[in-house]
Amino acid sequence: MPLIDAFGRHITYVRLSVTDRCDLRCTYCMAEEMEFLPRNQVLSIEELTLLGKVLSELGVTKIRLTGGEPLIRKGIIELAQALGQLPLLKQLCLTTNGTHLKQHAQALRAAGVDRINISLDSLDPDNFRQLTRVGNLQQVLDGIEAAIEAGFTSIKLNCVVLKHYNANEVDHLVQFALTKKIDISFIEEMPLGNIKDHSRGTEFISSAELRQSLGKKFALIPDSQKKGHDGPANYWRITNHPSRIGFISPHSENFCSSCNRVRITATGRLLLCLGQENSVDLRQILRDSRTPEAELKQTIIHAMQHKPEKHQFTLDDEPQILRFMNMTGG
Ligand code: SAM
Repeated sequence: MPLIDAFGRHITYVRLSVTDRCDLRCTYCMAEEMEFLPRNQVLSIEELTLLGKVLSELGVTKIRLTGGEPLIRKGIIELAQALGQLPLLKQLCLTTNGTHLKQHAQALRAAGVDRINISLDSLDPDNFRQLTRVGNLQQVLDGIEAAIEAGFTSIKLNCVVLKHYNANEVDHLVQFALTKKIDISFIEEMPLGNIKDHSRGTEFISSAELRQSLGKKFALIPDSQKKGHDGPANYWRITNHPSRIGFISPHSENFCSSCNRVRITATGRLLLCLGQENSVDLRQILRDSRTPEAELKQTIIHAMQHKPEKHQFTLDDEPQILRFMNMTGG
């Protein structure tokens, strides 16, 4: 039974958050002082595995493990192994900040993880530290190297661009991706959670502005061929080069009409849109139902009718969505 929403969109992709905890404190993502959830509120590895099975039987072909930072979740490799064996799942992906990738890259590859997105907002150690508040750039660079060595064929860097913090590094980041023969996407900051370090309006820089600036150094060619695994990014290429340069533009180039995604938070809340609050509690079914698989399927199918048509992001300093990205699963 495929998952189809009220606007005829087929939902085949789920971002599954395995923890709200993170070892970094990126300024656009979290407050400096965070209170994390008590462990019993977070889904167990067994609950996450069962969800993965149910979702794949409902036509979900791609699951992305995310968080918080998924690689600090105990049992993450066992979870990847279990999901990697689901016969109906075509792609198992991971989004990570890369700080623990060096230790885990080989095991993740062996477990069946196909694609990895690694967040990298700066190649300058001081700027990286400022943006992440606590991060050590070298750990992430080592993680990227380890992922390449482990044989992942699809690695993408994700960079949230803030006008006065790292927009001046975009050329350098593209050059880095080209040298490593991996993809890179630039993301417009989304208004999730109340942040104090900067004004989202002041820091906004559109994808079009970035492309214009990159165009002075690189001859960008639109890559009209969307691949089956592509998320919301629009891609560009540089002649004779395997890397793709993506732009995720929630403000300036709305992509909701082709949305094929939903998210499940670390507490088991099925969130139907990143920019709205429509959601359904799956944890209660996982914990209380006598027939959880059947009940989960029925609830998830029904929930699709509540998937909103689109997000309504603004650049106001008071965001409408008070949940931080780490709560949601990026
Ligand atoms: N810890 C992992 C990581 O750093 O990739 C996974 C979770 S993180 C929340 C997922 C992605 O969301 C990261 O690429 C991060 O940069 C992005 N992100 C977080 N807050 C964001 C925001 N307000 N707007 C746009 N992207 C955001």
